[in-house]
Amino acid sequence: MTTDHFSFETLLLHNNHKFDATNGAVSVPIQHASTFHQLDCDQFGKYDYSRSANPTREALEEIIAGLEEGTNGFAFSSGMAAISTAFMLLSAGDHVIVSEDVYGGTFRMVTQVLSRFNIEHSFVDMTDLENVKAAIQPNTKAIYIETPSNPLLKVTDIHGICCIAKEINALTYVDNTFLTPALQKPLTLGADIVLHSATKFLSGHSDVVAGLAVVRNPELAEKLGFLQNSFGAVLGVQDAWLVMRGLKTLHVRMEHSVQSTKKIAAFLESHPLVKKVHYPGLASHPQFTLQKQQAKSAGAVFSFELENEDILRSFVDNVTLPVFAVSLGAVETILSYPAKMSHAAMPDEEREKRGITKSLLRLSAGLENPDDLIKDFTVALEKSKLVLTV
Ligand SMILES: *Cc1c(COP(=O)(O)O)cnc(C)c1O
Repeated sequence: MTTDHFSFETLLLHNNHKFDATNGAVSVPIQHASTFHQLDCDQFGKYDYSRSANPTREALEEIIAGLEEGTNGFAFSSGMAAISTAFMLLSAGDHVIVSEDVYGGTFRMVTQVLSRFNIEHSFVDMTDLENVKAAIQPNTKAIYIETPSNPLLKVTDIHGICCIAKEINALTYVDNTFLTPALQKPLTLGADIVLHSATKFLSGHSDVVAGLAVVRNPELAEKLGFLQNSFGAVLGVQDAWLVMRGLKTLHVRMEHSVQSTKKIAAFLESHPLVKKVHYPGLASHPQFTLQKQQAKSAGAVFSFELENEDILRSFVDNVTLPVFAVSLGAVETILSYPAKMSHAAMPDEEREKRGITKSLLRLSAGLENPDDLIKDFTVALEKSKLVLTV
């Protein structure tokens, strides 16, 4: 089936895995087999062993490649497995430039694992491309972007970075977890590798841990496929199926969550106990225009700073609707505390330096009615006001 002419939401349902070619089943079959029978010594079938390739995992890999407009997709056992395997494209002696307020697990991988293999790094505030240019070394082989970043929602000019990277023959990696291809397609802006924690919006139901990577050309596909098989952190078939199930509703979930986010972020921005809201969908955000240019919207995750840590603690104690947890991108609204959760792997000093303070909360809007969430937050903030007066 040629699917090029379909819009994104249609493509989520009508792709090459719409039904099973052998029996018409309208759900991708889960193939548990670890190994595949071969006809004789010389003629091997397409599949031989499930670490190398498995039909269920392959269906997900093809679907995500189509959605991101890349040539090949790869499914891993977690977002960190996808990211770590993609970093293995680098070699000892190479240098990578990384977004300053990157996901805590990526920070840990870069600073505590890659460093042991003599892969150097520089963390850079990428909101200014001059900072990126200044960080280039003769051995810079990759630029790793997270945009909007986590948890301060700083926006990086993807196309701008890709141009810089091309000049020095370096690869551009983009962690697209926050926006998903429903809202942003880094490969179309010039990136080489897109990475995902499919644990978040892509699956969307807080019930699976998974990672995905998509590459822009067959040469990179060959290299990353080799690493996926060598490293072996592949996604299990049940989990691949759960991600495919989640993907079918990606568009409607994002649409609702983005609308709610806009409403909630605007409400918090006007609240006297809220010091600052970090959301590139607000006109007050320094990269509001850039975000509009490179993505369909600003997504469904934002962070906000309360007056102080005491107010934050009181707010967290008093809200009732969101789950208070690590993670994001789910049907239920998730409130999290970056300093103690996603960025706990970052030393205090590094964290504070990046503006991830102890009075910062991150919210990922789910599918509740936003007015219910606003009511809940209004009451919790009202109760937290008392902390100020004691
Ligand atoms: C969660 C997350 C990761 C890591 O993914 P896991 O599936 O938890 O391994 C990487 N990047 C971002 C932006 C994330 O939110």
